[in-house]
Parts: sequence; structure tokens; C-alpha cells
Amino acid sequence: RDARKYSGVVEDCCCDYETVNQLNEEVLHPILQELVKTPFFRYFKVKLWCDCPFWPDDGMCRLRDCSVCECPDNEFPELFKRPSRVRSADDMVCQEGKPQAAVDRTLDSNAFSGWIEVDNPWTYDDETDNAEMTYVNLQLNPERYTGYSGPSAQRIWDAIYKENCPKYPSEELCSEQKVLYKLISGLHSSISVHIASDYLVDEATQLWGQNLELLYDRVMRYPERVRNLYFTYLFVLRAVTKAADYLEQAEYNTGNSQEDLKTQSLVRQLVFNPKIRSACPVPFDEAKLWKGEKGPELMLQIQKQFRNISAIMDCVGCEKCRLWGKLQVLGLGTALKILFSDNGNNGLNQRLQLQRNEVIALINLLNRLSESVKFVHEMGPTAEKLMKRK
Ligand code: FAD
Repeated sequence: RDARKYSGVVEDCCCDYETVNQLNEEVLHPILQELVKTPFFRYFKVKLWCDCPFWPDDGMCRLRDCSVCECPDNEFPELFKRPSRVRSADDMVCQEGKPQAAVDRTLDSNAFSGWIEVDNPWTYDDETDNAEMTYVNLQLNPERYTGYSGPSAQRIWDAIYKENCPKYPSEELCSEQKVLYKLISGLHSSISVHIASDYLVDEATQLWGQNLELLYDRVMRYPERVRNLYFTYLFVLRAVTKAADYLEQAEYNTGNSQEDLKTQSLVRQLVFNPKIRSACPVPFDEAKLWKGEKGPELMLQIQKQFRNISAIMDCVGCEKCRLWGKLQVLGLGTALKILFSDNGNNGLNQRLQLQRNEVIALINLLNRLSESVKFVHEMGPTAEKLMKRK
């Protein structure tokens, strides 16, 4: 029974588990691991303040591992920077309404030539809030165990599941609502897998390692959570391959031409990979959704639910979890935008417009999901055996 648990086609997708594991290990994982290290993909622009609109009293994390190492000034590409201003006494008083209080975007628009700031109807948008944004080197801030737990974390997951994507108890929910639930559940599984794969085993000696008991308790014990992880992975992969032309033509300019050429080449290997195209040409078939009479209305409703989930990320009471929560929800929002911006018409790639930060979030999310699928495939059976023996 166990052997058949993850065989056959991934529910609501178009490829089977075996193919996904093989493609992931041989093609996607190696490319993505390289890609996320490039200067273009390793710096994420984010507002890290915890200004929660829902529960202002939310407590912060108790472990040092929660805090995010921001980028020292000399670390991120020169082109991404805005000119530093000389601080004057005037800065100390309220600048509202004065012309000098306006954010200077000159360098941003030069640096991100080819990248524009457009609204994403699926997310609670931060990108244009330049004054409050900071750059974070994702390579210095791996997603792993932080010790964030208890009522604060519980409240976030509860709010997400209960208010925004109720678990479908029967067949009552339409397939679009199920997709939203499965995406969130798949992301939740992936977060748990990262906690299990990089865990603080001994706080006294600062020893980090795997925690297979946690992997079993939170993910492997519930086959549905594993299935949702694979579903989310294929959904995001479909978005990346659907936006292939756009991603290939985008500018990955960071001022380091050698690195930038490598980025461009890796993107091409990812989006036009012949192995992916022959083994799993359509990882998810988005054309099946929003078909009924109520399609457009349903789309607006689900968009609103997803925007709420995106806003809830400001309430995550642990900085590093908030960083990865925001990045991955933005990545999912970007995948939704790519797949559903014009209901799957062929002209999509002419009209699709992505922000630089959206592309960074999308690729880093795919990489996280790819790591989770690999870990579940490699260590899941061992975790199951271990726990059944206990
Ligand atoms: P939780 O993971 O909190 O789950 C809560 C409830 O949700 C469970 O009781 C179960 O009913 C249900 N559930 C669990 N998994 C699934 C699933 N896959 N699908 C459907 N339902 C499910 N902690 C870290 O150590 N590092 C991090 O980087 C990190 N990032 C986080 C990011 C966000 C956005 C949030 C909200 C939390 C994050 N946390 C992180 C905390 C972590 O997710 C857990 O909340 C915490 O470890 C406590 O786990 P738990 O066992 O109580 O169950």
C-alpha cells in the first residue's frame, strides 16, 4: 500500500510522481540551486517590519536564528542601489508634503530597466513602497528551524486556513477553491520540510542537522500534505514554463557581465529545457479553471482571499519566517498572475508584465519546493520506517 501511495499521476496535474522525482533530481534541482546563487536572484527587496494590521500585539521570536541578516552596504549590486543622501537636521522633522520628502526613484528605474512596477491583483503589494524596503541576501538567510511556534504561529496558520481557504470537507468546494487550499497546504508542507531538514538539534552546542521525527509528524504522516507539496511544485513549474518567452527576454543586469550571462543561460536552461518539455510538457492544466458562468466572480473572490493571505504575512512574529513567508506568498501570487492573468489566452506573453521582485520570488519559491520534493523523496521513506518501528 505504501509503495502505491505516491505513484501514478499527481492529483489534478499532468505528470506522475516518478517523472517529477526524476526531473527534479536530474534537471530542475541542479539548475535552480545554481540560479538562486546568482547576484540577480539572491537579493530580495522586502519590507521587514512587522506592522500587522490584524493583531498589533503579536510577540516576536525567541531565538537568534529568527533575525534576518540584511545586506551590508557593499554587498549587493551597485546598480540596485539608490543614491545615499547626506543626512541633515531637516531629516529629523516631518517631511510630509515637501518635495524633498518624495522618494527618489531615478536610479531604481535605470537599474531595473526593462522592469516596471505594475500592480499584481493577487498580492498585497509592497514593491512600490521604496522608502520602507530593504535588500536581503537570501543566501545568508536560509529557511530553516527558527523556534517560532506556539499561539502566534498557530494564529497565522488558523487565519489562513479558516478565514481564507477553508479545508474542503467534502465535494462542496469548487475546484478553484481546492486549488487555493492545495497551494497553501503545499507551501505549508514545504516550510515544515525545511524545518525538518535544517534543525537546531542541540541548542547548547549549536549543532544543526536533520529531524526525521518532525518530518514524519508534520508531513509524511499525512499523505495529503505530501500530495499537496507535489501539486504546488507542478503548479509553480507550469507558471515558470508558461512565462518562458518573457523570462528568457527579461534583463538580468546587475553590473557584473560575466555573472549576468550565466544567469541568462541558466534561465534559458530552466524554461526551455527539452527534458522537461518532453517528460512533463504541461505540469498543470490551468485552462480547466474559471469555466462556469460564475468564473469571473469566483476569480475576484479567490483573488481577494489570496490578497488577505498575503497581508497576513506582515503578522508573522519572526523576522526570518516573515521574510520567507512573504517571498513565497509573492512567488505563489506571481504564479497565479502568470497562469490566470488572461484566462489562458495565447496572447499571454505579449501582455504579461512582471516586476523584478516577482521574478526573484517565483524562482526562489520553485527552488524551495524543489528542495522539499527532493528531501521528501530521499528521506521520507526512512522517516516512515523509523517512526513505525517506534
Ligand atoms: P504548524 O505547522 O503550525 O501547523 C498548524 C496546524 O495546521 C496543524 O496542527 C495542522 O492541523 C495544520 N497543518 C499542518 N501542516 C499542514 C499542511 N501541510 N496542510 C494542511 N494543514 C496543515 N518555523 C520555523 O522554524 N522556520 C520557519 O522558517 C518558519 N516559517 C514560517 C512561515 C510562516 C508564514 C508561518 C505562519 C510559520 C512559520 N514557522 C516557521 C512556524 C512553523 O510553520 C510552525 O507553525 C511551528 O513550527 C509550529 O508547528 P506545529 O507543529 O504547531 O504545526
